[in-house]
Amino acid sequence: MEHDTHRSRDCRDYEDVVVIGSSAAGLYAAARIARGGRQVCVLEAKATPDPAPRTLIVTDQFTKQTSHSARSSILNEIRRFELFTDGRSAQIELKQPDLIIERSRLIRSLSEEAQHAGVTLRYDTRFLDLSPNANGLHVQVDRSGKREELHALSVVGADGAASRVARAAGWPPVETVPLVQAVVKLPKDCPLDTTRVWFIPDDTPYFYWMIPESSERAAVGVIGEHGRATKACFDRFLETKGFEPLEWQGARIPVYKRWVPVQRTVGNGEVYLVGDAAAQVKVSTVGGIVTGFRGARGVADTILQKSTTELRTLRRELGAHWLIRRALHDFKQQDYSRLVDLLNVSTRESLGAINRDESTRLLWSVIRRQPKLVLLGLRGLLLGKR
Ligand SMILES: Cc1cc2nc3c(=O)[nH]c(=O)nc-3n(C[C@H](O)[C@H](O)[C@H](O)COP(=O)(O)OP(=O)(O)OC[C@H]3O[C@@H](n4cnc5c(N)ncnc54)[C@H](O)[C@@H]3O)c2cc1C
Repeated sequence: MEHDTHRSRDCRDYEDVVVIGSSAAGLYAAARIARGGRQVCVLEAKATPDPAPRTLIVTDQFTKQTSHSARSSILNEIRRFELFTDGRSAQIELKQPDLIIERSRLIRSLSEEAQHAGVTLRYDTRFLDLSPNANGLHVQVDRSGKREELHALSVVGADGAASRVARAAGWPPVETVPLVQAVVKLPKDCPLDTTRVWFIPDDTPYFYWMIPESSERAAVGVIGEHGRATKACFDRFLETKGFEPLEWQGARIPVYKRWVPVQRTVGNGEVYLVGDAAAQVKVSTVGGIVTGFRGARGVADTILQKSTTELRTLRRELGAHWLIRRALHDFKQQDYSRLVDLLNVSTRESLGAINRDESTRLLWSVIRRQPKLVLLGLRGLLLGKR
């Protein structure tokens, strides 16, 4: 059923810009393009504007990107990271707190902002295909079980990791990995302002984490490589730690391996990708909110014929995260043990002073302060190559 209350007007047969997907990146892009004076319509496959809840951690960059109302999605602030591996641990104090946000609240407030900017939202409308026409693009959709066609000058694919827009316009698929989270009771020994990270390379080349969202609840999660094996390791991890899952959250997340060009010309029309659809995810931590907003901003600026600096700096940033992931990906237990041991006071300070959304600065700072860490990273890179 369509939610008319969330729509100021219906999409017209001819739109300037049609955005596919009403999640974080799509709504952010839509609002920005509409504020630039263009007619924008967002099509969303889900029948209702009620996104699934998801507990996320972002850097304080989020507050610079969003409005006051989007910041109502912030549940908690993180001031410290505790890293664990093989009986060892290290703490990193953050100069600027990380933020715990709730995704469904964020999406609701972004959709209100988009509508305020003049964007039309249409639910229960699944994008099927696109093809060129004389003035731009035909967009074929399934609207509440019926096939319909719209026309647009530009289409923005914000339809996630398995983007159908990307396939329709000829982009190759992006690789994805499974991410599973369970909401659990916050353990008594874990302070509300502390995120815990466990490196267990026998289970996953990524890591486990626990992010407290309130004095009652925390989200525990893992990124793996293969769905079933990841879930089996996660179940074992939860049991070992004595965590009882209260809720489950999960999806496949793109793995950034190289820059995905965000624009393609199809006939007389333009197709763009933003967010997970363009793998705009920090592959070192698999965080996609802040980088997806940056990609959305870059595409909006391109459509509005403004500067493309945002896309250039995002590309550099995602590349630096890829380098970090490559260095860590083949770490064995002894490498993680050394890594935690090597985190001396000055390195911990630089890791805490610069956030994960400024990784090029972070890398240079670590190279200056802790060359041994760099050698360890280089070893990881060489192992990865082998
Ligand atoms: C459990 C979990 C925890 C995470 N934790 C973090 C974290 O801590 N920090 C962080 O930064 N990131 C995190 N992420 C990643 C982050 O959530 C994603 O990068 C981000 O949500 C991607 O947003 P998006 O708008 O690009 O795509 P999505 O959120 O995937 O949205 C795509 C939208 O498109 C719609 N759609 C799809 N196909 C069609 C179609 N054919 N027609 C119309 N609509 C369509 C979908 O219904 C959906 O609304 C996490 C992800 C998961 C799964």
